[in-house]
Amino acid sequence: MDEHVVVVGAGPAGLAAAWAIRRAGPDPLVVDQADEVAASWRGRHDHLRLNTHRMFSHQPGARIPRRCGSYPARDDYVAYLQEYSAGMRLRLGTRVHTIDRTDGGWTLALEAGSLTAAHAVIATGSDAEPVLPGWPGLASFGGTVIHAGQFRNAAAMAGRDVLVVGPGNSGVDLLGYLAASDAGRLWLSARSGMTVTLRRLPARWQDGTARAVQRLAFGDLSRFGYPRPALGPFTRQLTDGVTIAVDDGFARALKTGRVVMKPGIDRFDGPRVCFTDGTSCAPDIVICATGYRPGIEALAGHLVALDQRGMPPFIGAASSPDHPGLWFFGLDSSIYGNMHVHRGQARQLARAIARRSAG
Ligand SMILES: Cc1cc2nc3c(=O)[nH]c(=O)nc-3n(C[C@H](O)[C@H](O)[C@H](O)COP(=O)(O)OP(=O)(O)OC[C@H]3O[C@@H](n4cnc5c(N)ncnc54)[C@H](O)[C@@H]3O)c2cc1C
Repeated sequence: MDEHVVVVGAGPAGLAAAWAIRRAGPDPLVVDQADEVAASWRGRHDHLRLNTHRMFSHQPGARIPRRCGSYPARDDYVAYLQEYSAGMRLRLGTRVHTIDRTDGGWTLALEAGSLTAAHAVIATGSDAEPVLPGWPGLASFGGTVIHAGQFRNAAAMAGRDVLVVGPGNSGVDLLGYLAASDAGRLWLSARSGMTVTLRRLPARWQDGTARAVQRLAFGDLSRFGYPRPALGPFTRQLTDGVTIAVDDGFARALKTGRVVMKPGIDRFDGPRVCFTDGTSCAPDIVICATGYRPGIEALAGHLVALDQRGMPPFIGAASSPDHPGLWFFGLDSSIYGNMHVHRGQARQLARAIARRSAG
């Protein structure tokens, strides 16, 4: 075997796993297709801050410096991860195309050649692949259509009318910045609302609490057209893996009419976007805040049965007797914050690998 442990992905999850595995024994090799660690965060928009508190978002073994504030800005978080990866064995600029079985372990097929390892940890991110719905007539739309992951800076939207599709975390986050910018008219298209939090109650109780907190914090947003969520946040997290939306100016923009609510999109008709209630608008730009999926079909879709969300059947420190040494890490999301949950899971994963290695 070339390696005992290879971790695919040098984002927060992969680095957390590598740190914990290293402490428990073998020094893993961390492979990433990008030329730098924390590539996903480096590629996110300029206004981005963590939406989970610094105290709950740190990696195992290293707190985020107090100077970064309660909700660290993108570049501070990237600098923190860069420092955190110091001393780790990194092989950057290396894409893993597929993973296959080999005697006593796994072969990771690379651009040039391959790597063999007793343990392969896939930490390629739950947000690796943007989901872009296809609406009827989309090809006839002359404006710009982008995914929320491609949004860079509100300044580029100055004077432009923008339709954001999807009331989730990304949609609400972006609208908070767009509302405060020189962007033109703003619309939010939502088929159903999200809840906008508080631990340890049955999901339905937590749903009730979160709804009560939202009402206390914002009043009844449905008066401004923001649809009531069909499912409570904790139930939605359990069923769809979709997390809660964090307000950073969106609710105020909705109440002042800076953002106008629209229901779901029915179709595109040339320059116009037509909604299910028969109304329409003519935006210059459509931003699809329509989510992400892990996108691990090529890597491991031939090894395990992925569900309709593209998720593997075992994640974190969980493993399958049919796939000894194959691990999926950081692909699950949590309403408590992915980083918070992955910190604990990293230590559990390291213990599981150490146990399996001890035979
Ligand atoms: C806009 C946004 C904001 C978020 N904010 C928060 C927050 O505040 N708090 C929180 O807890 N969570 C947040 N999340 C959720 C989640 O924590 C982050 O997405 C986090 O970056 C996930 O870390 P990760 O390491 O799992 O994935 P990523 O950071 O995406 O890292 C995966 C790495 O794998 C590499 N890779 C992928 N495929 C391959 C391959 N085939 N071969 C080699 N390398 C590969 C990629 O280059 C990438 O570097 C946010 C998500 C988004 C989209």
